Amino acid sequence: MDRTLLASTDWQATSACRHEDPELFFPIGETGPSLLQIGEAKTVCRTCPVIEPCLQWALETHELHGVWGGTSEGDRRLLRLRAARAAKRRGAVDA
Ligand code: SF4
Repeated sequence: MDRTLLASTDWQATSACRHEDPELFFPIGETGPSLLQIGEAKTVCRTCPVIEPCLQWALETHELHGVWGGTSEGDRRLLRLRAARAAKRRGAVDA
């Protein structure tokens, strides 16, 4: 992971969402109509040249709200859970 990159948010200067309505990326909830909004936001993310640093930033800063790096709040919870389980398994193997 590139710590220098994560130390700043310079990557936002070239983001695909910089000309989008910010509210698109902050749906209220993850059910019903919000699913369509999340899908629209993710569609923008898929065209974004900085999707990877954006996701890394969201995970490192434990960003709880909104769509970042092509992931919803629930997607990131799942990624963090999987990472924690993998770390736990590695710890069990190393012990
Ligand atoms: S990945 Fe998505 S939220 Fe992140 S900068 Fe790009 S368009 Fe914006």
